[in-house]
Amino acid sequence: MIQVNDLNKWFGEFHVLKSLNLSVKRGERIVICGPSGSGKSTFIRCINHLEAHQRGQIEVDGVELNEDLKNIEAIRREVGMVFQHFNLFPHLSVLENCLLAPIWVRKTPRKEAIDTAMHYLERVRIPEQADKYPGQLSGGQQQRVAIARALCMQPKIMLFDEPTSALDPEMIKEVLDVMIELAGSGMTMLCVTHEMGFAKTVADRVIFMDGGEIVEEAPPSTFFSNPTQPRTQAFLKQIL
Ligand code: ATP
Ligand code: MG
Repeated sequence: MIQVNDLNKWFGEFHVLKSLNLSVKRGERIVICGPSGSGKSTFIRCINHLEAHQRGQIEVDGVELNEDLKNIEAIRREVGMVFQHFNLFPHLSVLENCLLAPIWVRKTPRKEAIDTAMHYLERVRIPEQADKYPGQLSGGQQQRVAIARALCMQPKIMLFDEPTSALDPEMIKEVLDVMIELAGSGMTMLCVTHEMGFAKTVADRVIFMDGGEIVEEAPPSTFFSNPTQPRTQAFLKQIL
């Protein structure tokens, strides 16, 4: 589903991603963790071309990501993304946030787009908030809208970049529950998160990044109990 080979990226002189390799199968759930500044966000942003890479290949669902706009658009249609700070449109209602891309990008008829939006707002358990504005919702509710909005495009892959790290503790669970349910539905997921309970419950593999490199990659059972690399061991000691 996702094939990354020898991915390299520089910000000016700074080598931020160093020869990353990753292969993700359909339905796999991957958790990416690592210290601040290790390149986690940059890595997943490369996958839907929010960041351009300079060397190596990224292939998503058989489409190679290059400078060809057609390919970039094709990939973006299949890849949903959820950010730390929700990134909802504040001047649009919850429902309108969910309709925008399906109507303008996918050209879905409005009536059908509304049905789909309400379906996903029910799945994230906030259909009653459809007519409110993002500013009237709690952080946890806003993040669930952001997840529903991404799902309305019926993506094949979902990318999450620290979706719970801006939330108050009591709201983290409601967002994680939605993500766990999504994982159970067979969605291919790449999640940057330090929620290790989530990683243990749903991840097929955990990837540890440090200094722009993938340092270690293992199923959660071995990753947490038997990390082989000193950098992973030091990191886990800090956060567990
Ligand atoms: P965090 O856990 O804090 O979110 P991260 O692992 O997601 O960190 P990135 O945001 O990918 O890290 O950043 C990796 C490195 O690249 C950092 O040193 C950061 O300062 C740098 N960086 C990120 N974006 C840019 C940019 N647009 N221009 C220059 N440097 C950048
Ligand atoms: Mg980040």
